[in-house]
Amino acid sequence: MTGSRYTVIIVGGGIVGLAVALEITKRFPHLRLLLLEKEDRVGRHQSGHNSGVIHSGVYYKPGSLKAKLCATGAAAMVEFCREHGIAHQVCGKVIVATHAEEFPRLEELRRRGEANGLTGLQSIGPEALRQIEPHASGLRALVVPSTGITDYAAVCDKYAEIISAQGGTILTSTAVVGIQRHADEIVVETNHGAFSATSLINCAGLFSDRISRMAGDDPQVMIVPFRGEYYDLIPERASLVRSLIYPVPDPRFPFLGVHFTRRISGSVDAGPNAVLAFRREGYRRTDFNLRDLASCLVFPGFWRMAAKNWRSGLDEFHRSFSKAAFVRALQRLVPEVREADLVPGGSGVRAQALTRQGALVDDFQFVPSGRMLHVLNVPSPAATASLVIGRAIVDTAAPALGLQE
Ligand SMILES: Cc1cc2nc3c(=O)[nH]c(=O)nc-3n(C[C@H](O)[C@H](O)[C@H](O)COP(=O)(O)OP(=O)(O)OC[C@H]3O[C@@H](n4cnc5c(N)ncnc54)[C@H](O)[C@@H]3O)c2cc1C
Repeated sequence: MTGSRYTVIIVGGGIVGLAVALEITKRFPHLRLLLLEKEDRVGRHQSGHNSGVIHSGVYYKPGSLKAKLCATGAAAMVEFCREHGIAHQVCGKVIVATHAEEFPRLEELRRRGEANGLTGLQSIGPEALRQIEPHASGLRALVVPSTGITDYAAVCDKYAEIISAQGGTILTSTAVVGIQRHADEIVVETNHGAFSATSLINCAGLFSDRISRMAGDDPQVMIVPFRGEYYDLIPERASLVRSLIYPVPDPRFPFLGVHFTRRISGSVDAGPNAVLAFRREGYRRTDFNLRDLASCLVFPGFWRMAAKNWRSGLDEFHRSFSKAAFVRALQRLVPEVREADLVPGGSGVRAQALTRQGALVDDFQFVPSGRMLHVLNVPSPAATASLVIGRAIVDTAAPALGLQE
């Protein structure tokens, strides 16, 4: 056995695992905490491949965990960035209706935002929209002043630095390959030997269902990887977008639709779309993994989801392969944008939990199992809300996990 026994082992060094570790090392400084990350540094997957938006909380169903944690999480994230000198900006955003049929959904977003405690929301017409975003075109828009931008990879690095300073241990390049539950301990096998602990928190993102199964549990959901591809606006045309321009989202999907995002670096990107990835960490269209694809194809919920959503799925694939189609979607928001203004940018892969019944799980999902907790669905806005997700998990799970002074 490598090393001695820990109180708690966290699997996964993304922003969520790190935020949980941050909270535990802060509240229980004498406990022995070990965080295991398979990559050579933290924040290499979803947490380092996202849009960098500090979401306000306008989208989420009142009463849901997302709604409860996003607005307070956004304020906590802004405060964290300010305190630690991480670049950020509360630049606000506009959600733009380009068809009259979208008006009721835009109004519903305003109601949701107000129910979730947001202030300063404002419904505006085309003229006022042009004063905020001179190149945007729409029939109506909702102004959301509390939305911001930051660099979540830098946030992850800072979380890791504080965890180490608070006495936690982070081992990178250490992949969890087996988990054994015994009466009084949990043994975690890795590519660098085994570690034991009293409790375990699974924050493995795209692999959280597999870690749950490795631990002998049935997660009831499968993680489906949805790749989001971005284009960058060429620097000469970045002035087409001042801050953030979003469409009215389709309520049937947990994704927000392709939008324009000004990054904290000053560049502007367009995207992300949402295409099924044939590999869990498949950042390129050609990435393929037989096990990842086969596990999708044998899961009953996958076919139920496919039967319901095949048309929109095909549209997303079409936009993935056709720049012209991608640009057409963007031109609804900013008609002046041209194919020549966009160059391929990065991509990210979302971990989206799918039920056996074929439903995409909308809310955050934390599933306790004895001395373990599986964080099975933490899609957007989990980067925004990470600090308060960490607090909420420790508040609710500490007694069951045996975390105490
Ligand atoms: C394209 C895209 C855009 C997004 N935009 C936003 C946004 O603008 N704002 C926002 O708030 N949210 C956004 N999100 C969502 C946000 O990025 C995620 O909700 C968040 O990063 C999830 O963090 P995580 O720690 O759960 O996952 P991850 O960051 O994926 O971390 C999981 C970690 O577990 C590790 N791991 C997996 N298996 C093992 C193993 N066997 N052993 C050891 N380690 C393992 C992985 O290497 C990984 O580092 C976006 C996501 C994507 C993909």
